[in-house]
Amino acid sequence: MHILDGMSSLHPETRAVHLPKPALNGSTPIATPIYQTSGFVFDDPAVFADGMSRPDGAFVYGRLSNPTVRALEEAVAGLEGGVAAVAAGSGMGAINSVLLALLRPGDHLIAQNALYGGTAASIADLAGRFGISVTYVAQDDPAAVREAVRPETRLLYLETIANPMTQVADLPGMCAVAREAGLLSVVDNTFASPVLCRPLEHDADIVVHSTTKYMSGHSDVIGGIAVFADDELYRKVWAYATKLGATPDPFAAWLTLRGLQTLPLRMARHCDNTRLLATRLAEHPAVRAVHWPGLPTHPSYELAAKLLPDFGGVFSFDLAGGRDAGERFMSSVRLALLAPSLGGVETLILHPATTSHRTLTADELARNGIGEGTVRVSVGIEHPEDLWADFVQALGG
Ligand SMILES: *Cc1c(COP(=O)(O)O)cnc(C)c1O
Repeated sequence: MHILDGMSSLHPETRAVHLPKPALNGSTPIATPIYQTSGFVFDDPAVFADGMSRPDGAFVYGRLSNPTVRALEEAVAGLEGGVAAVAAGSGMGAINSVLLALLRPGDHLIAQNALYGGTAASIADLAGRFGISVTYVAQDDPAAVREAVRPETRLLYLETIANPMTQVADLPGMCAVAREAGLLSVVDNTFASPVLCRPLEHDADIVVHSTTKYMSGHSDVIGGIAVFADDELYRKVWAYATKLGATPDPFAAWLTLRGLQTLPLRMARHCDNTRLLATRLAEHPAVRAVHWPGLPTHPSYELAAKLLPDFGGVFSFDLAGGRDAGERFMSSVRLALLAPSLGGVETLILHPATTSHRTLTADELARNGIGEGTVRVSVGIEHPEDLWADFVQALGG
């Protein structure tokens, strides 16, 4: 059903525009339709029965599969270079579907220190309730993974670019150790998007995304997706996720598909705008440090320069005046919006210590390099000089 079948050499910009469409009798729609239906009608009971038990049978019931949702799954699987994908109602829905489908009581998992807050909380919950143990390692330390492996270790969990200090994971190095030790590698690629990184090319087994962020890109939908390198893993997670009920609504899937078409264009602008702001802020007297892997001062700079064609649209900075200065800055911006989330067309800022990372202890904050005066910025696609003027006035000139 994909018009790009057999054309895998096309660039992401082209693949993102030409999305999968359902074939009708002799023509196909230009845009992917929204199949806003809970279920499907059958003439043949055998086809009905068959569709209930596998993801590639007939469409039966919306919790199992839907043509609009399937179009999104095929589009993202194509962009990430996977065999198939399972979409979910949120990023956490996709992440928990993967973890719950693949982990058993008594299993051990290795995860990087700097994790998205919701993921860290879910892993802590699994650990408490199912006796799953966790070892945390730095995101760029393959030797630490090798050392942490035990007979019951099942999975390595990484993020391409971490929130909010933008550490970059050594995907080739970390995934190679996992492969050698027989572990599955799961990579949250939300911050990079497949435009900047395709973790399956670095030997990951599963890629997860909060499509709420860059993929949909317009701050108007919540969604998630997991992409698989392997058909057996895909079927296993599909079977679990559809029982769990993590399925997205067709309209949410459609909004995400619509956003996806401009992902490469938006990502280029997010990166360019971020480069301008991060470079200039690093020179500003009110700023103590800027954290963006595109700056040579960032600990991940060399790795990022090897792994990524550009460095993403999120950065953080520490104000010389600490927490008070941070709060003053956040209440003084006019164009940038004080809001959760990231990856939308608008520039959004937040204070991690009191919002996204509020559940972390002082020690955990310090281990992640997050200070009292750290401000996180998700840079939008506005004109960069307008953003710069806003930041300068909010910094007091
Ligand atoms: C937002 C986010 C999530 C969670 O996604 P939701 O869509 O909010 O459930 C997971 N990982 C990363 C890196 C995120 O930024």
